[in-house]
Amino acid sequence: MYKSLRQPIVCVLGHVDHGKTSILDVIRGTSVAKKEVGGITQKIGAFEVDMESFYRASRTEIGMNKLKIPGLLFIDTPGHVAFSNMRARGGALADIAILVVDINEGFKPQTVESIEILKRFKTPFIVAANKIDLIPFFTNIKNISFRDLQKTQRNEYNEELDKRLYNLVNKFYEFGLSTDRYDRITDFSKTIAIVPVSAKMAIGISDALLMLAGLAQRFLERNIEYVGGLGKGTVIEVKKEESLGLTLDTVLYQGSLKKGDRLAVSTRNGPAVSKVKAIFVSGKGKKLLEKSEVFSAQGIRVVLADKLEVIPGSPAIAIVNDTREAFDEIMKESQINIPLSLNGVTVKAEALGSLEAISYELSKKDIPIRSASIGDITRRDITDVSTLNDILSKIIIGFNVEMLPEAREAALTSDTAVETGSVIYSLIEATEKWIQGKKEEIEEGRKQDTPIPSKFTIMPEYIFRSNKPVIVGVKVLTGRLKVGDSLIKSDGRYAGIIKSIREGETSKKFAEAGQEVAVSIEGVILHRHIFPSETLYVDVPESVVKTLRENNMDTGTMETLEEIIKIKRKENIFWGTRA
Ligand code: GDP
Repeated sequence: MYKSLRQPIVCVLGHVDHGKTSILDVIRGTSVAKKEVGGITQKIGAFEVDMESFYRASRTEIGMNKLKIPGLLFIDTPGHVAFSNMRARGGALADIAILVVDINEGFKPQTVESIEILKRFKTPFIVAANKIDLIPFFTNIKNISFRDLQKTQRNEYNEELDKRLYNLVNKFYEFGLSTDRYDRITDFSKTIAIVPVSAKMAIGISDALLMLAGLAQRFLERNIEYVGGLGKGTVIEVKKEESLGLTLDTVLYQGSLKKGDRLAVSTRNGPAVSKVKAIFVSGKGKKLLEKSEVFSAQGIRVVLADKLEVIPGSPAIAIVNDTREAFDEIMKESQINIPLSLNGVTVKAEALGSLEAISYELSKKDIPIRSASIGDITRRDITDVSTLNDILSKIIIGFNVEMLPEAREAALTSDTAVETGSVIYSLIEATEKWIQGKKEEIEEGRKQDTPIPSKFTIMPEYIFRSNKPVIVGVKVLTGRLKVGDSLIKSDGRYAGIIKSIREGETSKKFAEAGQEVAVSIEGVILHRHIFPSETLYVDVPESVVKTLRENNMDTGTMETLEEIIKIKRKENIFWGTRA
């Protein structure tokens, strides 16, 4: 075994319910059972699989002459969000991934999201085509490699399996990826391996592990070289435990870390340093094992002296003397790289990676982002958004974050919408729906603001006031009279603005053809500018003539529009001919 390579770090991704957790459980079971009989290992971010025991069978299958890697280090939290949240060296913490696809269900939204994220991070992966025990004609069997499984199954089963695999291969092809069943691949640098598995029956798991190991040591050698020196890791989970202080479940991917070292981390308030009080690794039984020094790659629990607001997914870097270099690196890794616009939605997420993941999906849907930041939704967020003028910007999208109680309270009296959730595509869908609704509202409002051609007569028997403002009873003859409408006389001269409309005791915004209402008209004097029994028209701006004509209004309204055009053309013969 070459000491120079560390364990490749593996993450499991895929759509919900396709079996990520089950596959991790089987893999963990295999390794734990081998190493420590009867032991229950507390999860601390990652667990190790000893590859030695799988080695012999692997030699011929994937052309490995020597097992060079000491094992595989699996990140315990599955999912593409976790994957993109865990960063290292500007990329993903995981060196390689398993994309789980339910062979019976095929591609689902999170399968696509996972593929896109893997592509973005340029992370090599294998596909675990899971739940092959649900394929018709399956003959019950457990704990077997995929190779051996085929010999135990009927032809009908093997044919059905192949059919489903073929569908999967086609689907990957649509996404620009060349895939094939792992044992039919000749060039692993060009084709992605699909390993048929069943987590439930523990079928094909060893095949998948061997594929990972083989690929890692053939194609990732440079990435997984053991680098000594000061420890560098990625914080996976942050827990504040009263008795212990702040504990960070961390994957140490480079160098070593000692008790008493100073550790630089990224907090809500920028980079900070704290002393390592204790380091634990998984031990036998339920207990964790305390260590004075640990080497990469390893999942560790670090206890820090200070209770800092550490951001999950951010780097943890050991320091000897100079903090500046570590701080620079932390700043670099924590940079939010999301293009922002003047108007747009506000996004909040629990960590950098998920913030980027959801922002990426939003921009793919052409939804602009005004602000993107890490943390729960606060009262401040609500008030900030509520002061925005752009209606389509009045939404906060919270991904894997909480809405704080004061924020909830503030939201009650604010016009700020909040969508929270932990599934990217559902959140995007909800946001799109909200935007669509708002657009329709705006469109409706615009329609209502557009003057509708209308004419009405002043009823001489209902003259209430003749000035400041004129208040008279009118009969609407055609179209719709609206508060705010500008009026003209039949000779085109100005006839005031409708300030209010009343029907009995109630004020109204509109009066339709046939209705008799009282109106107040500002800007003119009765008997001087306008007269009892006179017919007045709603002034229609030239810019809306085309739309009005296309709007399919009733004949009375259409006729009035033509009358208004005629009035206007006395002044300007081209009126209404321009768009
Ligand atoms: P995750 O959401 O991707 O982590 O999926 P889980 O591992 O929680 O699995 C979802 C469901 O599918 C659970 O009810 C599992 O028992 C079931 N499941 C997982 N793997 C298999 C499998 O290989 N065969 C069958 N029949 N069911 C499975």
